[in-house]
Amino acid sequence: MPTPPAPIIRSVAALREQIAAWRRDGAKIGLIPTMGALHEGHLSLVRRALAAGERAVVSIFVNPTQFGPNEDFGAYPRRESEDVAKFAEAGGHLVWAPTVDEMYPAGFATHVAVTGLTDGLCGPFRPGHFQGVATVVAKLLLQVQADHAYFGQKDYQQLQVVIRMARDLDIPTGIIGVPTVREADGLALSSRNIYLSAEERRAAAQLPRVMRETAQAAFAGEAPFAHLLETARARLAAAGFGPIDYVSINDAETLAPVDGLTRPARLFVAARLGKTRLIDNIPIETTTA
Ligand code: AMP
Repeated sequence: MPTPPAPIIRSVAALREQIAAWRRDGAKIGLIPTMGALHEGHLSLVRRALAAGERAVVSIFVNPTQFGPNEDFGAYPRRESEDVAKFAEAGGHLVWAPTVDEMYPAGFATHVAVTGLTDGLCGPFRPGHFQGVATVVAKLLLQVQADHAYFGQKDYQQLQVVIRMARDLDIPTGIIGVPTVREADGLALSSRNIYLSAEERRAAAQLPRVMRETAQAAFAGEAPFAHLLETARARLAAAGFGPIDYVSINDAETLAPVDGLTRPARLFVAARLGKTRLIDNIPIETTTA
């Protein structure tokens, strides 16, 4: 028998009612914020919530305020009915899919900005992006009042921004980071991978490969980080990537650039392949996540 679809809620009022009913039953709630076009990466977050015995609430909202004027808000894949089917199949309980007007009613005037963590990496390349993310995630956390909210390490800077924001604003939801799900050739799953042509998709496999080798070389102390990062950049450019926004080794918590391994660090890359901007990151000490 096909799995019955998970219910979709589109108003904050209806969401509150459902959450209150679950709370009365003593249920725990897990929130998985997404922009839809669900893939196995998203579903791994859903499974983490279910494994914790929580009612899994996925939010599907393509948040206009986190896209720059020349970014892909209009082109971003929207496929709600497929998403709802995949989510239900995975055992999820509720889809929270507000309209833009429900999320940002007329007169909306409040924004959340996390400083410091957003100074580097994607921050300078996507002005306003993290403020858009922090604001919408603060709203989602307050709307759903989940016990835990699950975020992918794929968007590691976003994860750190959300952890800081929830701490700073005393939002009591526990923020859980989940390892990146990858294709067989190592490419991190992303809703944007569908933009890649067949040729670009083949070239994209160089990204995780160069990253893995660079992280291994950094861990082995083969050369100064600056030298390893230059080599990685050159290899990505030779594979057809460009412009390359950054190739960088940063502290895993503060996200400040580092040139040695006194604390946990990660290798971060953002680069365009044709029209598609790909981002990825891996830890330096182990090269699998
Ligand atoms: P998005 O729909 O791209 O905004 O992503 C929603 C959530 O899924 C974010 O927390 C992402 O970090 C996470 N996510 C995206 N891709 C992956 C992946 N390949 N593995 C694990 N989590 C992911």
